[in-house]
Amino acid sequence: MIEVKQLTKEFSIAKDKKLTVLKDINLVIEDRDIFGIIGMSGAGKSTFIRCLNLLEKPTKGSILIDGVDITRKRGRQLLILRKQIGMIFQNFNLLMQKNVSRNIAFGLEITKARYFKIPGMSGREYEELGYFKKRSLKKKEIERRVDELLKLVDLEDKKYEYPSKLSGGQRQRVAIARALATYPSILLCDEATSALDSRTTESILKLLKKINEETGVTIVMITHEMNVVQKICNKVAVLDKSEIVASGYTKEVFGDTSSEIVAQLLGGEE
Ligand code: ATP
Ligand code: MG
Repeated sequence: MIEVKQLTKEFSIAKDKKLTVLKDINLVIEDRDIFGIIGMSGAGKSTFIRCLNLLEKPTKGSILIDGVDITRKRGRQLLILRKQIGMIFQNFNLLMQKNVSRNIAFGLEITKARYFKIPGMSGREYEELGYFKKRSLKKKEIERRVDELLKLVDLEDKKYEYPSKLSGGQRQRVAIARALATYPSILLCDEATSALDSRTTESILKLLKKINEETGVTIVMITHEMNVVQKICNKVAVLDKSEIVASGYTKEVFGDTSSEIVAQLLGGEE
């Protein structure tokens, strides 16, 4: 479970000038939710999702993951935390000079030496974090995991292809496989289908739904496409000018005709 409590994020934009991008955000995201975050451009959606894996450091407030406040984590503990939380992006962010298999293996390879060397952490704590029990991942184990992931995202025939030769949908599948390589319990998606046509969007949503059902991963999903929310998000929160103005089950939030911002967002659909 993710519990966001009184989260505030300010950016310093000039000397003595601050921009408040998130203001006193309170939100609970339950295990296995597919949780949508919607709102106008500039509302603070990306900043919010980036706070969840500390790509942005919150100014105030706390973020508890399974009861542990992650905003206090530093250094190597932060690296471990990031392996618990996968992320995918609108523009896929693949390593263009590496093939599909190396892209997927990337997160496994760079961390293998670090797994068991965090001062003050017991093996049990590692296990609780869902970490590999072994000291390092052997080459064979990495290959086995890569093959497993290729199968999951249905790209077995593209294992040695380079990203430049793949379609947008295929690139996003590679990004999803890479994000899931370390068995994260949370997957963050920032406009993951916005660069894709509607049919490809459909197939990526189907894949995310399947992964959510099969692995139990919690998905937090930013999107400006309301049909995406309606298709796969069981819950949704609306961010407006740095604040959460509505949240709850998708049907209820979208059914609330008194909310101007919801009407505006839904009205944006063709
Ligand atoms: P969009 O739908 O266009 O992606 P968003 O809801 O994701 O918008 P954010 O990217 O979170 O919005 O940005 C919210 C506000 O914070 C914007 O006004 C933006 O200019 C500002 N902002 C974001 N990152 C920074 C930063 N590093 N420094 C200063 N201001 C920033
Ligand atoms: Mg954004």
